[in-house]
Amino acid sequence: MHELSIVDAMIKQVEREVRESGHDGHVVHLDIVIGRLSGVNVDSVRFAFDLLSPDTLLEQSDLRITESKAVCLCEACESRTEIDDFVAACPACGSEKITFEGGQDLFLDSIELVD
Ligand SMILES: [Zn+2]
Repeated sequence: MHELSIVDAMIKQVEREVRESGHDGHVVHLDIVIGRLSGVNVDSVRFAFDLLSPDTLLEQSDLRITESKAVCLCEACESRTEIDDFVAACPACGSEKITFEGGQDLFLDSIELVD
């Protein structure tokens, strides 16, 4: 499960940013964005977070996950179809002349602290 190493890196990043900002509070809210096509499983991220956050600045913080959407663009019929996963062909006409837009990001959006 590579979500464990992703979440581990994320927690270290947050702790570093909090330290560098000069605060010594703890994190109450954490917003992250996970793209539908990023290959990262949201449930696994939550599981990893519950496992790794105790004894860090993120202990008891509320993890909010936004899933960014992905769109399949078809060159043949020019449709834009929202998709939850990679597809091999256009869902509308079956053409394989498709490209994907969005949904591949994975980043930390915001951190909210209390002192
Ligand atoms: Zn099409």
